[in-house]
Amino acid sequence: MLHQKLLLKGVLRSSYVCIHFHLESLLAPISLNEFIRHLGKPPILCTTSYLIIPAKRLPIQHPDGLQHRQVCRYTPLRFRIKFYLGRLGGTVGGKRFPMKIHEYQGKELLRKFGVAVPRGLVAHSPEEAYHAAKELGTEVVVVKAQIHAGGRGKGGGVKLARSADESREIARQMLGMKLVTHQTGPEGREVRVLLIEEGLPIDKEFYLGIVLDRASGRPVFMASAAGGMDIEEVADKTPEQIMKETIDPGVGFRSFQARKLAFGLGIPGALVTQAVKFMQSLYTAYEQMDASLMEINPFLLTKDNRLIALDAKVNFDDNALFRHKDFLDLRDLNEEDASEIEASKFDLNYIKLDGNIACMVNGAGLAMATMDIIKLAGGEPANFLDVGGGASQERVEAAFRILLADEHVQAVLINIFGGIVRCDMVARGVVEAAKKLNIKVPVVVRLEGTNVEEGQRVIRESSLNFTVAKGMKDAAQKVVALAA
Ligand code: ADP
Ligand code: MG
Repeated sequence: MLHQKLLLKGVLRSSYVCIHFHLESLLAPISLNEFIRHLGKPPILCTTSYLIIPAKRLPIQHPDGLQHRQVCRYTPLRFRIKFYLGRLGGTVGGKRFPMKIHEYQGKELLRKFGVAVPRGLVAHSPEEAYHAAKELGTEVVVVKAQIHAGGRGKGGGVKLARSADESREIARQMLGMKLVTHQTGPEGREVRVLLIEEGLPIDKEFYLGIVLDRASGRPVFMASAAGGMDIEEVADKTPEQIMKETIDPGVGFRSFQARKLAFGLGIPGALVTQAVKFMQSLYTAYEQMDASLMEINPFLLTKDNRLIALDAKVNFDDNALFRHKDFLDLRDLNEEDASEIEASKFDLNYIKLDGNIACMVNGAGLAMATMDIIKLAGGEPANFLDVGGGASQERVEAAFRILLADEHVQAVLINIFGGIVRCDMVARGVVEAAKKLNIKVPVVVRLEGTNVEEGQRVIRESSLNFTVAKGMKDAAQKVVALAA
C-alpha cells in the first residue's frame, strides 16, 4: 500500500491519464515489467483501482495539448485505452480485489483436495508455539510468520527451530515484529499469527502456479525447476525457464499435460505419477474454489522422495465469492487499511496520504487534478478520494467520516462537478452530512456545473462555516490558507 501511496505522490506534477482498472488483473497474465515495457518504460502509477500513466508516455497517440482530465473525457481515446488494456488482459471500469488469505489457511483448504502439505499448527503466542512444536514432535520445526506478502524467508519471517524451547524463543521475537519483505513496502507488516510446521528434508525446490490468463481466457498451469525464493527474478531475467500449459476449461487439466510438466521439471521417473496426481489435485482445488491465483513455491521434493507443497499462496476471484460465503471468514482485516476497508463498504475510492488537506471529489481525473492544484498552491493533500458519480448524502457522509478520522486533516476541500448529478443536490447532501457530523475543521466548497447557483446558495444559507470558492485555483488557495 505504501508503495502505491508513494507512487501517487509522485504523480502530482503534470499531465496524467487516469484509468479505472485494477493492476492485479494485469499482473496475473503478464508481469508488471512486461507491462511497463509495453508502455515504453514510464513510471506507472497505480492505486487499487486506478492506473495513472503520464499522458505523453501512452503507447497510443493522443491529441496534442490535452490535459489529463480532458484525456479521460475524450471518448475515442478512452475507448482505445480500454481496448489496449483489454488486450493486455486488464479490466477497465470494473473493480477487482482479489481476496487474499494466509499460507496456513491456503494449506488447510488444499489438504481437503488431496494436495500434500506439511503437518502444521497455528500459534498466536510463544507458549502456543512451544506446544505446537512439542505436538509435532519432529527434530526440526519451522516457524513461519503469517502475513499477506511473500518473500518472508529473505526478510527473516521463516526460521528453523531445533527444539520446542527454540520455537518459543523465535516466536517471541517474531510476534509483534514488523516484517519487511520486497512485497510489503518499507513500513512492513506486523506479525500476529505464526504457522509452526514440521521441518522437511529438502532435496529440490520447484515452482508451480496456476493463474487465469485473461488474454486467452483460460487458466495456465506454470512450472519451473528454478523454484524457491527467487522466482520473481527467474520470471524477469530468464522467463524461458518457466513452462506453461494452457488448460481448456471444458476438458480440464489433462494428465498428459501434467506429465509433460513433471518431466520438464526433471522429477525422477518413479515419482512422476505422484507429481501428476499432485498437480491434478491442485488444479481441482483451483477450479472448485474459484481461485484467481494459486502458487506453490516451493513445490518440494524431499530427500525421502515425497512431493509436498511447502508454501501456498491462494487468492480468490471475488466475483465468485458469492458461491463461497464461508471464504469470507478467512479474510484478515488486520492486513487491510482500516479507513480503506470502510471506504470500500461505501464504494468510495480512497487512498490515504500524508498531507493535511482532505479532498472530496467526484471523478478520478478531477481528484487527481485537485491534488495537483493543492500542491501548486503550496499545500499537501491528505488523501485521494473519489466519491463517484452519485455523491449521495449517504456517501458524502461516509466520506466525511473517513476523512475526519485522519488526525492530520486541518481543512477539507470539496470539489464537485455537477454533470449528471446536480450541484444543488450535492450541496444539500454536504450540508446535511456536515450538520450531522458536527464538523469543526474549515471546509472550502467548489461546485461547478448543472444548477451551480442553486448549489452555492444552499451552502451559503446553511448556517455552516463553509467557504464557497470560485474556480479550482481560488479553492486551492483558500483551503491552503485555512489549513496553515
Ligand atoms: P516465502 O516464499 O514467503 O519466503 P516460504 O514458505 O516459501 O516463504 O519459505 C521460504 C523457504 O523456507 C523455503 O523456500 C524453504 O527453503 C524453507 N522452508 C519453508 N518451510 C519449510 C519447512 N516446513 N521445512 C523446511 N524448510 C522450509
Ligand atoms: Mg515461498
